[in-house]
Amino acid sequence: MNIGIIGDGQLGWMTIFENRKLNYKFFVLGNNPEAPASRISDRFFRYEDYKQFFETVDTVVVEFEHIPDFIFELLERYPNFNALKLKRSRIEEKTFLKSKGYPVVNFCYSYGYQLKEKIKDFALPVIIKAEKLGYDGKGQYFIEDLSQIQNILDNHSLEEGFIIEEFINFKHEVSVIGVRDFDGNKRLYPISFNYHEDGILLYNYAPFVDNKSVSQIVYSLLDDLEIVGVLAVEFFIKQDDTPIINEFAPRPHNTGHYTMDGSYTSQFENLIRAVSRLPLGSTESKLPTGMVNILGKSLEDFNVNEILKIEGTQFYWYGKEKKSRRKMGHVNIVDTDVSNLRRKIQSVLECVYSKNFSKV
Ligand code: AMP
Repeated sequence: MNIGIIGDGQLGWMTIFENRKLNYKFFVLGNNPEAPASRISDRFFRYEDYKQFFETVDTVVVEFEHIPDFIFELLERYPNFNALKLKRSRIEEKTFLKSKGYPVVNFCYSYGYQLKEKIKDFALPVIIKAEKLGYDGKGQYFIEDLSQIQNILDNHSLEEGFIIEEFINFKHEVSVIGVRDFDGNKRLYPISFNYHEDGILLYNYAPFVDNKSVSQIVYSLLDDLEIVGVLAVEFFIKQDDTPIINEFAPRPHNTGHYTMDGSYTSQFENLIRAVSRLPLGSTESKLPTGMVNILGKSLEDFNVNEILKIEGTQFYWYGKEKKSRRKMGHVNIVDTDVSNLRRKIQSVLECVYSKNFSKV
C-alpha cells in the first residue's frame, strides 16, 4: 500500500519509521526535501507536484494542519477532512465544540480593529490568539492590562481575525489520544499530564489520574468528528476537577510521543493501521512513561551521553535547523514506578536545559 503523508516534519518522520515493519511505502508532500519526513520517505514531492503525489498514493494522512489552501481542497475524499476543516480556524473549532455541548472556555471573535472594544466583555486576564496559523504559543498573547493590546496591533493587521478567551486558572493540563477505525471501533490511550511553558509543551507523562468525564468526551468526539486514525484532545482541568477542552488535533500529537516506548502500539502505528483497515492495536501502557521536548537546542548544547546514562531513556533527534523554541528532538523515559519516572524526567530536563527545575 502507498501511504501519502501531507507535511514533512517530525510527526511524519515518526509515522514512517514506526510503520516500516508493515511493508508499506511512504510518500511525503511538503516544502523541504531535507525535512525529517522527506529524508526517510520513499519519495518526496513538493507541493507544486501535488498531482503526481495524489496519483501515487492509495490514502493520505496529515501530520500538520496548516496545509496550503489549494492542497486542502483536494483532501475531501480522504479521512478526517471535516475535522481538518474545523482546525483551519480556532473560532470554527470552538464554535463546533460548543454547538455539540462540549465544555469550552468563554470566547468571542474579534477583528484586530475591534479588540479594544470586545475585550471589555471579559474580566482580565484574557488570552488572545490569532484565529489562523497559530501553534506552539505562536500568535498568542496573555493580556492582563489593556495597554498590552497595542503590542498585538503592532504585530498583526487590523483586518486579521482573533479569538479572545477567558483565562482559565487550571489545576493542571492533560490530554488523551483516541483512535478510531472505519467501522467506528474506538480505543483510548491513558490520560497524560502535560506541562507547558510559554504555550509550548515541555514534558508530559502517562498514565495520570483517571478522569471519567475526560474519557467520555474523547469517545464521543471521535464519533462526532468521524475520525479514522488518531485524535488528540487537550484539556484544562479546573480546580474542581471538571474538564474544559482546550483544543483537538486530528493527527498524531506531541503529547502522544511517549506511546512509542510506553504503549503496546504507538499512536503512529494505530494511525496507519486505521487508515489501511488493519485491526487497531492495544493502547494499554507497558510501563509508566514520560517525554521531554528538546526545544531550541543543537546537539552541541547538551550531552546526549548524560541523558542516555539515565536508565530507561530513548533519544529522538529530528535533524532540523536550530531555531529559538523550535522542537528539535525529544527523550522518552520509562520506569516501573511513577515517582522514579518523575525524578528521571527532572534529570533529563536538567541535562537538556542546564538549569535546575523545581520538582516535576
Ligand atoms: P494552545 O495553542 O491554544 O494549545 O495554547 C497553548 C497553551 O497556552 C495551553 O496548553 C495552555 O498552557 C495555555 N493556554 C491557552 N489558552 C489558555 C486559556 N484560555 N487559559 C489558560 N491557559 C491557556
